[in-house]
Amino acid sequence: MHRRSFLAGATALWLPSMARAQAPLAAQPFGLGVASGQPSATSLVLWTRLMAEEPWETPAGVLPVRWEIAEDEGLRKIVRSGEAIAEARWAHTLHVEVEGLQPGRPYWYRFTVQGKASPVGRTRTAPDARARVPALRFALASCQQYEQGYYAALRHMAAEALDAVLFVGDYIYDISWGRDLVRRHDGGRPTVLGEFRERYALYKSDRDLQAAHAAHPWIVTWDDHEVTDDYTGDISPADPDPARFLAQRAAAYQAFWEHMPLPNAMQPRGPSMRLHGRHRFGDLAELHVLDDRQYRSHHACRATLTRGKILTGCEERLDPARTMLGAEQEAWFADGMRRASARWNLVVQQTLMAEADRGQNGQHAYWADGWDGYPAARARLLDAVASSPARDTLVLGGDVHSFWAADLEREKAIVATEFVGGSITSQGPAEARVKALLARNPHLRYGRTGINGYGLVTLDPKSAQVAFRTVQSVKDVNSPISTLARFAVEPGRPGVQGA
Ligand code: FE
Ligand code: CA
Repeated sequence: MHRRSFLAGATALWLPSMARAQAPLAAQPFGLGVASGQPSATSLVLWTRLMAEEPWETPAGVLPVRWEIAEDEGLRKIVRSGEAIAEARWAHTLHVEVEGLQPGRPYWYRFTVQGKASPVGRTRTAPDARARVPALRFALASCQQYEQGYYAALRHMAAEALDAVLFVGDYIYDISWGRDLVRRHDGGRPTVLGEFRERYALYKSDRDLQAAHAAHPWIVTWDDHEVTDDYTGDISPADPDPARFLAQRAAAYQAFWEHMPLPNAMQPRGPSMRLHGRHRFGDLAELHVLDDRQYRSHHACRATLTRGKILTGCEERLDPARTMLGAEQEAWFADGMRRASARWNLVVQQTLMAEADRGQNGQHAYWADGWDGYPAARARLLDAVASSPARDTLVLGGDVHSFWAADLEREKAIVATEFVGGSITSQGPAEARVKALLARNPHLRYGRTGINGYGLVTLDPKSAQVAFRTVQSVKDVNSPISTLARFAVEPGRPGVQGA
């Protein structure tokens, strides 16, 4: 049965009185696909979720699921296998931590329950930390508002030769918005666990998203829309009561953990979940994955409840006590930079880091929700980057639904190079705004809106190359892809080349 028709009747599940029936497994219990993630040189997480026939039903009981991982596509040379338990408490999701694998090679995996096999997924371990790695390639993706377009970009991403996908937030959207929608969310804004689970099930019913997960391991962080638009720490613009909002955040974090290929150690505890982490890829790259949502200070000058969240003349913005990462994560990041030894450091985070002054006529104006709302925290992060013994750092981001290349500066010196990889579907800002930002902020070397896709980051010892890959139209499920722009960065010489 096709998942899109399978979900067609899902509107009913938003009725609050709806009983959650216990039901047999679906004829295709793996209808949300399979996924893998968190690749190290010897380990990976394998993911799936068992479904009942209707998305508002919970499969009955505690279900043993067989998993296998093999060295070949035909799954003849099985190297590890076992049984995992799916239970209602975690929405019958599985997070199998496979260990003892060989570094830097592909593997294929599948699950089986009650005689029914999942699709076969392909994944890949990272190279050994001491290995000399000639080249690596990552996709950089974010912001896949389901209503605003089809996931043709993700299907093309599935076909790229990648070491991993870096997904930097807005995997689901809490809100419905935008023009010319191609499909609709079922129901309204999720606030409780069941509603967040159903939103993930809707997104993951998309075949192209499933293909991108089944083709590559994913390394993920979140942004705001996995919980609610523009939240900061324990405050939501939609619900300024912190106690009530933290209950929603706990539900949202649990649903995120359940639906991502993340290890059991990351399971949330109430409204807290440690998501930041490091990933080593041989001598060539180290990824520092950040969480700039959970621990950040509230918006400056009470901007949370204002539309647009633009700050002008706000002294509080500059307060050095303001934090984006929280003290603990900030110290963890600085420590990682001090000990960095790979050729390329990749700071994998949510949003545009470079200053983007949008003021006019001698005024300065900054967006409260981005790094511009936290300039002292940004300066501390870039100081840690600048003093690292491994000098070559790329900052990779998303969130702003547009493509950017920027020089990141401290005291007029370029210390890192930034790329923002557009959005898979989410609608971007007006072209006039992007042009005004480029004119006013010379360190913003390239900006482009009104087009969707992802970034392709190719690293070798002599250069980092970034290509912006874009689909012709998110309204066309079969849209072709092409390269919008290409950039390069040389070791020892931070800054955008080719803009
Ligand atoms: Fe977004
Ligand atoms: Ca966002």
